[in-house]
Amino acid sequence: MSDGRALAREFLEQQRVLGGDSVVLPKASAAGTPGVRPGLVGPPDSAAPTPGASPGQSQARPAEPPSELPPPGISFDPPGGDLFSSDPVQQASSLGAIAELVAACTKCRLCEARRHTVPGEGAADARLVVVGEGPGRVEDETGRPFVGPAGELLTKILAAIDLPRARVFICNVVKCRPPENRQPQYDEIAACVPYLFRQIELLRPQVILAMGGTAAQTLLNTKQSLGALRNQLHRFRGIPVIVTYHPAALLRNPHWKKPTWDDVRIARRLIA
Ligand code: URA
Ligand code: SF4
Repeated sequence: MSDGRALAREFLEQQRVLGGDSVVLPKASAAGTPGVRPGLVGPPDSAAPTPGASPGQSQARPAEPPSELPPPGISFDPPGGDLFSSDPVQQASSLGAIAELVAACTKCRLCEARRHTVPGEGAADARLVVVGEGPGRVEDETGRPFVGPAGELLTKILAAIDLPRARVFICNVVKCRPPENRQPQYDEIAACVPYLFRQIELLRPQVILAMGGTAAQTLLNTKQSLGALRNQLHRFRGIPVIVTYHPAALLRNPHWKKPTWDDVRIARRLIA
């Protein structure tokens, strides 16, 4: 896995090529920080003032090491990967164990109206992990991800790049259906995301395909729009992430099929 500094450098190069905002690469201590993701790298003066601190105080504050800066996007405590952690999600040693924890989960309000939890499914040795937003009606009824109309389209897309569903792992950011298919809310995502992160940790895929803004923003810890995130190679803990449109959006906007096809082919090329 490349170190944080190499990732940051790659990101900066992309920013330069794409004409994005300039970003100051932190010196010294943060250099080798594992797991530093693009969303965590920003100019030192982008730190939001500490709540309650007067402007005067924040002026006087010595520059903090960049690794302590509040990230600009959606932020979650990274699951520790701590061998001694007593958190059952961190302790889960298989995808099945995670599915069992999800089945019993009541950590957010989405547990109230669900019929089935939808932890995700696919091959434990999958080289590609597809991440969507959350279960829809058919997924809630069956407990399986991407089996409704959007899922049928995803199945076709995967078959077209010679990756049948059975050879990839398909899952979502939240594991229970949001009512009326609304977007999952911030606290629901925060409650559920340790399951996704642990799944990815166990799967260690070669590529992650983030479908739609919710998946992309959650994995990349950013609030940037899907349009801004597409066409760049991102990483989640060293694993390449390709961002593309959500298949449900493609059903509404068929003219996004061509760019999606381009994205998916790039993802395919990254798989050994
Ligand atoms: N949309 C998603 O994001 N996930 C599913 O599983 C189905 C539809
Ligand atoms: Fe638990 Fe996730 Fe379902 Fe919320 S959405 S109840 S956190 S499994």
